[in-house]
Amino acid sequence: MNEIVLETQGLTKYYGGILAVDHLDLKVPRGCICGFVGRNGAGKTTAIKLMLGLLRPTAGASKLLGCDSTALTPEIRQRIGYVTEGHRLFRWMSIGELEKFQRAFFPEQWDDKLFGDMIEYFELSRKRKIKHLSNGQRAQVSLALALAPNPELLIMDDPTLGLDAAIRRQFLEGMIELIMRQGRTVLFSSHILGDVERVADRIAVIDKGVLRANCSLDEFRTAVKKVILSFADSVPAEVDIEGLLHCRRSEKQLELTLVGTEEAQITEWAKSAGAEEYHSAKMNLEDQFIEFTAPANRKRLFQWEEV
Ligand code: ATP
Repeated sequence: MNEIVLETQGLTKYYGGILAVDHLDLKVPRGCICGFVGRNGAGKTTAIKLMLGLLRPTAGASKLLGCDSTALTPEIRQRIGYVTEGHRLFRWMSIGELEKFQRAFFPEQWDDKLFGDMIEYFELSRKRKIKHLSNGQRAQVSLALALAPNPELLIMDDPTLGLDAAIRRQFLEGMIELIMRQGRTVLFSSHILGDVERVADRIAVIDKGVLRANCSLDEFRTAVKKVILSFADSVPAEVDIEGLLHCRRSEKQLELTLVGTEEAQITEWAKSAGAEEYHSAKMNLEDQFIEFTAPANRKRLFQWEEV
């Protein structure tokens, strides 16, 4: 059994009449990089703020490193790193001043060498003022500040928003640098599925506040598939295959997008429907995510294995 470092149970948040997070049951095991993905307004930021105790839930609970999010002790907080959307930093400080300021909160665990190496890697100087940095450079400083205390659990809300491809890659490599140190865990929200595909080993999909998948990236990649069936005459009127997300028809072909359907079930259905042949179409993670979260597919939940 894997140790769970982040867990939510029935976590729910209403803003007045708006249901932003709906009975979220999320589990993140130690030692993974989990991509937290969802369309705009899906509830990612709200869920992250609830997990960090920055918002009060309407119902349900969440725990970080075994401690209830509404009562995180200073000792637990010191073991958690948080990078916010937009990288809010004191603009009037220099990088060196921010480093000193932040280090004071983590006297025992601050890694001077790591901070220095990251600043050098990002080609920044400690003398530079935050207000004179570009968005991407501010993101780099945020990451260095979040990694230097050596957090056991790093939570990042859309940390690469607005960054160019090269800087995003550097940023993600910085994240991998953290995870390579044994036992570290990262949860990061993102809209860039290519980034999630490159670095994450788990994926949590939230849609209109509901958790629709929470599994290994491999499991998700295998579960969502597209098959194209060819028919000699016309295509069948009814398509009643388990796990059907979407069906597109042409005169002699059916294109089915499925979730969690076994290969044997597809073969059997293709045979019973009188298909001449079928083959799988290639899908990258972005294609899979778009199909899986299309409004018409909203009711379908992927039944992932418990961690
Ligand atoms: P994005 O990817 O666009 O940043 P998100 O997944 O982070 O979105 P949230 O910011 O958590 O989504 O918003 C979830 C829902 O809650 C949205 O419908 C949003 O309009 C609503 N919401 C968020 N903050 C508030 C607030 N302070 N008051 C009222 N509604 C809010």
